[in-house]
Amino acid sequence: MKLNVKNIDKLTIGDLLNEEFDCECGRKHSVYIDKVIIDNGAIDELPQLLREFKLESPFIVADKNTYEVAGSRVERMLSASNINVRSLIYKREHDLVPDERALGEFMLNYDRSRDVIIAVGSGVICDIAKYMSFSLGIPSIAIATAPSMDGYASDCSAFIIDDIKRSIQSSPPKVIIGDVDILKDAPMDMILAGLGDMLGKYSALRDWKLGNIILNEYYCDVVSKLVKTSVDKCVSEIEGYKERDELAIEHLMEGLVLVGIAMSFVGNSRPASGAEHHISHLWEMMFLIEGKEPVFHGTKVGIGTILVNRLAEKLIDSNLNFDILKEEAKYFDEQKWCEDIKRLYKKTAPEIIALNKKPYDILIEERLDRLERIEDNWDSIVETINKVPKSQRIECFLNEAGAPTSPQDIGIDNNIIKDTIIYAKEVRQRYTILRLLWDMGLLDKIE
Ligand SMILES: [Zn+2]
Ligand SMILES: [Zn+2]
Repeated sequence: MKLNVKNIDKLTIGDLLNEEFDCECGRKHSVYIDKVIIDNGAIDELPQLLREFKLESPFIVADKNTYEVAGSRVERMLSASNINVRSLIYKREHDLVPDERALGEFMLNYDRSRDVIIAVGSGVICDIAKYMSFSLGIPSIAIATAPSMDGYASDCSAFIIDDIKRSIQSSPPKVIIGDVDILKDAPMDMILAGLGDMLGKYSALRDWKLGNIILNEYYCDVVSKLVKTSVDKCVSEIEGYKERDELAIEHLMEGLVLVGIAMSFVGNSRPASGAEHHISHLWEMMFLIEGKEPVFHGTKVGIGTILVNRLAEKLIDSNLNFDILKEEAKYFDEQKWCEDIKRLYKKTAPEIIALNKKPYDILIEERLDRLERIEDNWDSIVETINKVPKSQRIECFLNEAGAPTSPQDIGIDNNIIKDTIIYAKEVRQRYTILRLLWDMGLLDKIE
Protein backbone atom coordinates (compact mmCIF):
# COMPACT_ATOMS: atom_id res chain seq x y z
CA MET A 1 0.00 0.00 0.00
CA LYS A 2 1.19 3.51 -0.78
CA LEU A 3 0.60 6.12 1.90
CA ASN A 4 -0.97 9.39 0.79
CA VAL A 5 -2.84 12.33 2.29
CA LYS A 6 -6.15 10.78 1.29
CA ASN A 7 -5.75 7.40 3.00
CA ILE A 8 -3.57 8.23 6.01
CA ASP A 9 -6.40 9.35 8.32
CA LYS A 10 -8.38 6.20 7.56
CA LEU A 11 -5.70 3.81 8.74
CA THR A 12 -5.53 2.33 12.23
CA ILE A 13 -2.33 1.91 14.24
CA GLY A 14 -2.32 -1.78 13.31
CA ASP A 15 -2.36 -0.88 9.61
CA LEU A 16 0.86 1.10 10.03
CA LEU A 17 2.95 -1.68 11.57
CA ASN A 18 4.97 -4.56 10.11
CA GLU A 19 5.34 -3.08 6.66
CA GLU A 20 7.60 -0.77 4.76
CA PHE A 21 5.36 1.78 3.08
CA ASP A 22 6.01 3.80 -0.02
CA CYS A 23 4.84 7.32 0.62
CA GLU A 24 3.68 10.20 -1.51
CA CYS A 25 6.66 12.20 -0.20
CA GLY A 26 8.98 9.88 -2.15
CA ARG A 27 10.45 8.16 0.88
CA LYS A 28 9.73 4.80 2.46
CA HIS A 29 8.32 4.76 5.98
CA SER A 30 8.47 1.98 8.55
CA VAL A 31 8.50 1.37 12.29
CA TYR A 32 10.00 -1.47 14.34
CA ILE A 33 6.97 -2.23 16.47
CA ASP A 34 5.14 -5.50 16.00
CA LYS A 35 1.94 -4.89 17.89
CA VAL A 36 -0.02 -2.19 19.69
CA ILE A 37 -3.04 -3.13 21.78
CA ILE A 38 -5.06 -0.27 23.27
CA ASP A 39 -8.27 -1.55 24.78
CA ASN A 40 -10.05 -2.42 27.99
CA GLY A 41 -8.43 -5.46 29.58
CA ALA A 42 -5.53 -5.41 27.09
CA ILE A 43 -3.09 -6.51 29.77
CA ASP A 44 -4.72 -9.95 29.92
CA GLU A 45 -3.32 -10.68 26.47
CA LEU A 46 0.25 -10.67 27.76
CA PRO A 47 0.76 -14.43 28.37
CA GLN A 48 -0.62 -15.22 24.92
CA LEU A 49 1.61 -12.52 23.36
CA LEU A 50 4.72 -14.00 24.96
CA ARG A 51 3.80 -17.40 23.55
CA GLU A 52 3.11 -15.88 20.13
CA PHE A 53 6.57 -14.29 20.05
CA LYS A 54 8.24 -17.33 21.67
CA LEU A 55 9.49 -15.30 24.62
CA GLU A 56 9.91 -17.39 27.75
CA SER A 57 11.90 -15.55 30.32
CA PRO A 58 10.75 -12.00 31.07
CA PHE A 59 12.48 -9.39 33.20
CA ILE A 60 9.83 -7.07 34.64
CA VAL A 61 10.75 -3.49 35.49
CA ALA A 62 8.49 -1.24 37.54
CA ASP A 63 8.64 1.38 40.25
CA LYS A 64 6.74 1.06 43.50
CA ASN A 65 3.67 2.88 42.16
CA THR A 66 3.45 1.10 38.83
CA TYR A 67 4.12 -2.22 40.55
CA GLU A 68 1.06 -1.64 42.66
CA VAL A 69 -1.04 -0.45 39.71
CA ALA A 70 -0.15 -3.26 37.29
CA GLY A 71 3.25 -4.83 37.94
CA SER A 72 2.19 -7.27 40.64
CA ARG A 73 -0.74 -8.35 38.49
CA VAL A 74 1.59 -8.98 35.55
CA GLU A 75 3.86 -11.02 37.79
CA ARG A 76 1.00 -13.15 39.09
CA MET A 77 -0.54 -13.59 35.65
CA LEU A 78 2.72 -14.80 34.14
CA SER A 79 3.58 -17.06 37.05
CA ALA A 80 0.12 -18.62 36.78
CA SER A 81 0.93 -19.36 33.14
CA ASN A 82 4.11 -21.15 34.28
CA ILE A 83 6.34 -18.41 32.94
CA ASN A 84 9.53 -17.89 34.90
CA VAL A 85 9.63 -14.24 35.94
CA ARG A 86 12.28 -12.01 37.45
CA SER A 87 11.46 -8.48 38.57
CA LEU A 88 13.15 -5.23 39.44
CA ILE A 89 11.05 -2.79 41.42
CA TYR A 90 12.68 0.59 41.91
CA LYS A 91 11.89 1.70 45.43
CA ARG A 92 12.63 5.41 45.58
CA GLU A 93 11.32 7.79 48.18
CA HIS A 94 10.84 10.45 45.48
CA ASP A 95 10.32 10.11 41.74
CA LEU A 96 12.60 7.68 39.95
CA VAL A 97 15.29 9.58 38.03
CA PRO A 98 16.58 8.01 34.79
CA ASP A 99 20.24 8.28 35.72
CA GLU A 100 23.42 6.23 36.17
CA ARG A 101 22.11 4.79 39.43
CA ALA A 102 18.89 3.51 37.85
CA LEU A 103 20.83 1.85 35.01
CA GLY A 104 23.32 0.33 37.46
CA GLU A 105 20.52 -1.15 39.53
CA PHE A 106 19.03 -2.63 36.38
CA MET A 107 22.28 -4.38 35.50
CA LEU A 108 22.81 -5.71 39.02
CA ASN A 109 19.39 -7.33 39.04
CA TYR A 110 19.32 -8.55 35.48
CA ASP A 111 20.51 -12.02 34.52
CA ARG A 112 21.49 -13.21 31.08
CA SER A 113 18.85 -15.93 30.87
CA ARG A 114 16.21 -13.24 30.24
CA ASP A 115 14.87 -12.87 26.71
CA VAL A 116 12.46 -9.92 27.04
CA ILE A 117 12.11 -6.81 29.22
CA ILE A 118 8.59 -5.94 30.32
CA ALA A 119 8.33 -2.29 31.30
CA VAL A 120 5.38 -1.57 33.54
CA GLY A 121 5.15 2.21 33.76
CA SER A 122 5.27 5.39 31.75
CA GLY A 123 8.11 7.77 30.82
CA VAL A 124 11.06 6.84 33.01
CA ILE A 125 10.46 3.08 33.28
CA CYS A 126 9.85 2.79 29.54
CA ASP A 127 12.95 4.84 28.75
CA ILE A 128 15.10 2.56 30.92
CA ALA A 129 13.59 -0.51 29.25
CA LYS A 130 14.00 0.88 25.72
CA TYR A 131 17.62 1.76 26.36
CA MET A 132 18.46 -1.59 27.99
CA SER A 133 16.64 -3.39 25.18
CA PHE A 134 18.92 -1.57 22.74
CA SER A 135 22.06 -2.28 24.79
CA LEU A 136 21.33 -5.93 25.56
CA GLY A 137 19.87 -6.75 22.15
CA ILE A 138 16.65 -8.24 23.52
CA PRO A 139 13.12 -6.97 22.83
CA SER A 140 10.98 -5.04 25.27
CA ILE A 141 7.25 -4.84 25.88
CA ALA A 142 5.73 -1.63 27.24
CA ILE A 143 2.75 -1.87 29.53
CA ALA A 144 1.63 1.73 29.81
CA THR A 145 0.30 2.88 33.16
CA ALA A 146 -0.44 6.49 32.15
CA PRO A 147 -1.16 8.30 28.86
CA SER A 148 1.37 10.93 29.89
CA MET A 149 3.93 11.32 27.09
CA ASP A 150 4.65 10.42 23.49
CA GLY A 151 7.80 8.38 24.08
CA TYR A 152 6.24 4.90 24.21
CA ALA A 153 6.89 4.19 20.53
CA SER A 154 9.99 6.31 19.98
CA ASP A 155 13.52 5.03 19.44
CA CYS A 156 15.24 7.34 21.87
CA SER A 157 15.17 7.73 25.64
CA ALA A 158 15.67 10.68 27.95
CA PHE A 159 18.36 10.27 30.59
CA ILE A 160 19.97 12.56 33.11
CA ILE A 161 23.64 11.72 32.91
CA ASP A 162 26.09 13.71 34.99
CA ASP A 163 23.18 16.02 35.88
CA ILE A 164 22.57 16.90 32.24
CA LYS A 165 19.51 15.78 30.34
CA ARG A 166 20.37 13.75 27.25
CA SER A 167 18.49 11.95 24.55
CA ILE A 168 20.00 8.51 23.95
CA GLN A 169 19.53 6.03 21.10
CA SER A 170 17.26 3.15 22.15
CA SER A 171 15.04 0.44 20.67
CA PRO A 172 11.29 0.98 20.52
CA PRO A 173 9.25 -1.77 22.22
CA LYS A 174 8.21 -4.82 20.26
CA VAL A 175 4.74 -4.54 21.75
CA ILE A 176 2.89 -1.65 23.39
CA ILE A 177 -0.04 -2.47 25.64
CA GLY A 178 -2.36 0.33 26.74
CA ASP A 179 -5.02 -1.13 29.00
CA VAL A 180 -7.72 1.53 29.13
CA ASP A 181 -8.94 0.19 32.49
CA ILE A 182 -5.51 1.01 33.94
CA LEU A 183 -4.83 4.20 31.95
CA LYS A 184 -8.07 5.87 32.96
CA ASP A 185 -7.14 5.60 36.63
CA ALA A 186 -3.72 7.23 36.13
CA PRO A 187 -3.02 10.37 38.19
CA MET A 188 -4.93 13.26 36.60
CA ASP A 189 -1.85 15.46 36.22
CA MET A 190 -0.23 12.70 34.14
CA ILE A 191 -3.27 12.43 31.87
CA LEU A 192 -3.27 16.20 31.44
CA ALA A 193 0.46 16.14 30.71
CA GLY A 194 -0.22 13.67 27.89
CA LEU A 195 -2.84 16.05 26.53
CA GLY A 196 -0.36 18.97 26.73
CA ASP A 197 2.25 16.94 24.86
CA MET A 198 -0.33 16.21 22.14
CA LEU A 199 -1.47 19.85 21.82
CA GLY A 200 2.19 20.77 21.32
CA LYS A 201 2.10 18.88 18.02
CA TYR A 202 0.12 21.72 16.44
CA SER A 203 3.06 23.99 17.08
CA ALA A 204 5.64 21.31 16.16
CA LEU A 205 3.99 20.72 12.78
CA ARG A 206 4.00 24.45 12.05
CA ASP A 207 7.70 24.61 12.87
CA TRP A 208 8.45 21.57 10.71
CA LYS A 209 6.73 23.29 7.77
CA LEU A 210 8.67 26.51 8.48
CA GLY A 211 11.92 24.50 8.33
CA ASN A 212 10.74 23.20 4.97
CA ILE A 213 9.92 26.66 3.64
CA ILE A 214 13.02 28.47 4.89
CA LEU A 215 15.72 25.76 4.85
CA ASN A 216 14.27 23.40 2.28
CA GLU A 217 14.20 20.72 4.96
CA TYR A 218 12.55 17.38 4.18
CA TYR A 219 8.85 17.49 5.02
CA CYS A 220 6.11 14.90 4.58
CA ASP A 221 2.50 16.03 4.19
CA VAL A 222 1.28 12.50 4.92
CA VAL A 223 3.10 12.16 8.26
CA SER A 224 2.08 15.71 9.14
CA LYS A 225 -1.55 14.81 8.49
CA LEU A 226 -1.21 11.60 10.52
CA VAL A 227 -0.08 13.63 13.53
CA LYS A 228 -2.59 16.44 13.05
CA THR A 229 -5.49 13.98 12.77
CA SER A 230 -4.40 12.33 16.04
CA VAL A 231 -4.33 15.67 17.89
CA ASP A 232 -7.70 16.67 16.45
CA LYS A 233 -9.09 13.37 17.74
CA CYS A 234 -7.77 14.10 21.26
CA VAL A 235 -9.29 17.58 21.12
CA SER A 236 -12.66 16.25 20.00
CA GLU A 237 -12.94 14.52 23.38
CA ILE A 238 -11.73 17.51 25.38
CA GLU A 239 -14.62 17.53 27.83
CA GLY A 240 -14.01 13.86 28.63
CA TYR A 241 -10.62 14.08 30.37
CA LYS A 242 -11.96 15.54 33.60
CA GLU A 243 -14.38 12.63 33.84
CA ARG A 244 -11.71 10.09 32.86
CA ASP A 245 -13.94 9.19 29.96
CA GLU A 246 -12.74 5.93 28.40
CA LEU A 247 -12.98 7.09 24.81
CA ALA A 248 -11.01 10.26 25.58
CA ILE A 249 -8.30 8.21 27.31
CA GLU A 250 -8.22 5.73 24.45
CA HIS A 251 -7.83 8.49 21.83
CA LEU A 252 -5.12 10.14 23.90
CA MET A 253 -3.13 6.93 24.25
CA GLU A 254 -3.57 6.17 20.55
CA GLY A 255 -2.43 9.68 19.67
CA LEU A 256 0.67 9.40 21.85
CA VAL A 257 1.62 6.10 20.21
CA LEU A 258 0.88 7.39 16.70
CA VAL A 259 3.16 10.37 17.24
CA GLY A 260 5.95 7.94 18.15
CA ILE A 261 5.25 6.04 14.95
CA ALA A 262 5.34 9.31 12.99
CA MET A 263 8.79 10.04 14.43
CA SER A 264 10.04 6.61 13.34
CA PHE A 265 8.54 7.17 9.89
CA VAL A 266 10.69 10.25 9.29
CA GLY A 267 13.68 9.17 11.40
CA ASN A 268 13.66 12.13 13.79
CA SER A 269 11.38 14.01 16.16
CA ARG A 270 10.45 16.79 13.70
CA PRO A 271 6.70 15.88 13.58
CA ALA A 272 6.51 15.91 17.38
CA SER A 273 8.81 18.59 18.68
CA GLY A 274 9.37 22.26 17.90
CA ALA A 275 9.77 25.53 19.77
CA GLU A 276 7.22 24.51 22.43
CA HIS A 277 9.48 21.55 23.31
CA HIS A 278 12.60 23.71 23.35
CA ILE A 279 10.91 25.95 25.89
CA SER A 280 9.95 22.91 27.95
CA HIS A 281 13.54 21.58 27.78
CA LEU A 282 14.99 24.90 28.89
CA TRP A 283 12.62 25.08 31.87
CA GLU A 284 13.45 21.50 32.74
CA MET A 285 17.17 22.28 32.74
CA MET A 286 16.58 25.32 34.92
CA PHE A 287 14.54 23.29 37.39
CA LEU A 288 17.23 20.61 37.46
CA ILE A 289 20.00 23.13 38.10
CA GLU A 290 18.00 24.88 40.82
CA GLY A 291 17.00 21.58 42.43
CA LYS A 292 13.31 22.40 42.04
CA GLU A 293 10.60 19.73 42.04
CA PRO A 294 10.17 18.66 38.37
CA VAL A 295 6.97 19.39 36.43
CA PHE A 296 5.64 16.86 33.89
CA HIS A 297 7.10 17.29 30.43
CA GLY A 298 3.72 17.55 28.68
CA THR A 299 2.45 20.14 31.15
CA LYS A 300 5.34 22.43 30.21
CA VAL A 301 4.83 21.66 26.52
CA GLY A 302 1.17 22.69 26.69
CA ILE A 303 2.06 26.03 28.29
CA GLY A 304 4.96 26.50 25.83
CA THR A 305 2.52 25.95 22.96
CA ILE A 306 0.35 28.85 24.11
CA LEU A 307 3.44 31.08 24.36
CA VAL A 308 4.85 30.32 20.90
CA ASN A 309 1.48 30.37 19.15
CA ARG A 310 0.86 33.82 20.63
CA LEU A 311 4.19 35.04 19.22
CA ALA A 312 3.37 33.60 15.80
CA GLU A 313 -0.01 35.35 15.77
CA LYS A 314 1.56 38.66 16.72
CA LEU A 315 4.14 38.28 13.98
CA ILE A 316 1.60 37.94 11.20
CA ASP A 317 -0.35 40.89 12.58
CA SER A 318 2.73 43.16 12.49
CA ASN A 319 3.55 45.74 9.86
CA LEU A 320 6.84 44.65 8.38
CA ASN A 321 9.41 46.54 6.41
CA PHE A 322 11.92 43.99 5.13
CA ASP A 323 14.44 46.67 4.09
CA ILE A 324 14.71 47.83 7.69
CA LEU A 325 14.76 44.24 8.99
CA LYS A 326 17.64 43.36 6.65
CA GLU A 327 19.65 46.36 7.76
CA GLU A 328 19.14 45.51 11.45
CA ALA A 329 19.91 41.84 10.88
CA LYS A 330 23.56 42.71 10.19
CA TYR A 331 24.17 43.44 13.86
CA PHE A 332 24.59 40.78 16.49
CA ASP A 333 26.07 41.24 19.96
CA GLU A 334 27.99 38.00 20.28
CA GLN A 335 29.44 38.83 23.66
CA LYS A 336 26.05 39.53 25.19
CA TRP A 337 24.73 36.31 23.63
CA CYS A 338 27.55 34.29 25.26
CA GLU A 339 27.00 35.96 28.61
CA ASP A 340 23.26 35.33 28.52
CA ILE A 341 23.72 31.69 27.55
CA LYS A 342 26.15 31.23 30.46
CA ARG A 343 23.73 32.94 32.84
CA LEU A 344 20.79 30.77 31.80
CA TYR A 345 22.30 27.42 30.88
CA LYS A 346 24.97 27.46 33.61
CA LYS A 347 26.67 24.03 33.61
CA THR A 348 25.39 23.15 30.14
CA ALA A 349 26.41 26.52 28.63
CA PRO A 350 29.68 25.33 27.01
CA GLU A 351 27.77 22.59 25.20
CA ILE A 352 25.00 24.95 24.11
CA ILE A 353 27.52 27.53 22.89
CA ALA A 354 29.45 24.89 20.93
CA LEU A 355 26.23 23.64 19.37
CA ASN A 356 25.17 27.09 18.18
CA LYS A 357 28.33 29.05 17.61
CA LYS A 358 29.41 30.00 14.15
CA PRO A 359 31.91 32.64 12.99
CA TYR A 360 30.25 36.04 12.95
CA ASP A 361 30.48 36.58 9.18
CA ILE A 362 28.95 33.18 8.32
CA LEU A 363 26.25 33.70 10.92
CA ILE A 364 25.21 37.04 9.45
CA GLU A 365 25.49 35.89 5.86
CA GLU A 366 23.24 32.89 6.52
CA ARG A 367 20.80 35.00 8.49
CA LEU A 368 20.47 37.45 5.59
CA ASP A 369 19.90 34.55 3.19
CA ARG A 370 17.13 33.22 5.39
CA LEU A 371 15.62 36.67 5.69
CA GLU A 372 15.50 36.82 1.92
CA ARG A 373 13.65 33.50 1.86
CA ILE A 374 11.28 34.72 4.56
CA GLU A 375 10.42 37.76 2.44
CA ASP A 376 9.99 35.69 -0.74
CA ASN A 377 7.80 33.13 1.02
CA TRP A 378 5.89 35.42 3.31
CA ASP A 379 2.46 34.35 2.05
CA SER A 380 3.09 30.65 2.70
CA ILE A 381 4.51 31.48 6.15
CA VAL A 382 1.31 33.34 7.02
CA GLU A 383 -0.74 30.46 5.64
CA THR A 384 1.27 27.94 7.71
CA ILE A 385 0.79 29.95 10.90
CA ASN A 386 -2.90 30.46 10.21
CA LYS A 387 -3.47 26.72 9.94
CA VAL A 388 -2.55 26.24 13.62
CA PRO A 389 -5.23 26.68 16.30
CA LYS A 390 -4.82 30.07 17.97
CA SER A 391 -3.11 30.40 21.34
CA GLN A 392 -6.45 31.26 22.86
CA ARG A 393 -8.00 28.03 21.65
CA ILE A 394 -5.12 25.98 23.05
CA GLU A 395 -5.64 27.81 26.33
CA CYS A 396 -9.36 26.98 26.23
CA PHE A 397 -8.64 23.30 25.55
CA LEU A 398 -6.24 23.07 28.49
CA ASN A 399 -8.60 25.06 30.70
CA GLU A 400 -11.53 22.87 29.84
CA ALA A 401 -9.54 19.77 30.68
CA GLY A 402 -8.37 21.37 33.95
CA ALA A 403 -4.68 21.72 33.06
CA PRO A 404 -2.35 24.64 33.92
CA THR A 405 -2.09 27.27 31.19
CA SER A 406 0.43 29.87 32.35
CA PRO A 407 4.11 29.65 33.26
CA GLN A 408 3.28 31.09 36.69
CA ASP A 409 0.98 28.09 37.34
CA ILE A 410 4.04 25.85 37.36
CA GLY A 411 6.41 28.12 39.21
CA ILE A 412 8.07 29.97 36.32
CA ASP A 413 8.71 33.58 37.33
CA ASN A 414 7.68 36.40 35.04
CA ASN A 415 11.27 37.58 34.65
CA ILE A 416 12.28 34.19 33.20
CA ILE A 417 9.71 34.31 30.41
CA LYS A 418 11.53 36.85 28.26
CA ASP A 419 14.78 34.90 28.61
CA THR A 420 12.90 31.73 27.74
CA ILE A 421 11.51 33.19 24.55
CA ILE A 422 14.88 34.57 23.43
CA TYR A 423 17.15 31.66 24.39
CA ALA A 424 15.07 28.47 24.16
CA LYS A 425 15.94 28.18 20.46
CA GLU A 426 19.55 27.32 21.36
CA VAL A 427 18.45 24.02 22.95
CA ARG A 428 18.46 22.36 19.51
CA GLN A 429 19.66 23.18 16.03
CA ARG A 430 16.17 23.14 14.62
CA TYR A 431 14.29 25.79 12.68
CA THR A 432 11.22 26.96 14.56
CA ILE A 433 9.03 30.02 14.93
CA LEU A 434 11.54 31.27 17.53
CA ARG A 435 14.42 31.09 15.04
CA LEU A 436 12.26 32.74 12.39
CA LEU A 437 11.53 35.61 14.78
CA TRP A 438 15.22 35.87 15.60
CA ASP A 439 16.15 36.01 11.91
CA MET A 440 13.74 38.90 11.58
CA GLY A 441 15.21 40.65 14.62
CA LEU A 442 11.82 40.56 16.31
CA LEU A 443 12.32 37.92 18.98
CA ASP A 444 12.96 40.42 21.76
CA LYS A 445 10.53 43.00 20.38
CA ILE A 446 7.31 41.05 20.09
CA GLU A 447 5.61 40.64 23.42
ZN1 LIG B 1 6.06 10.46 3.63
ZN1 LIG C 1 6.93 15.69 24.10
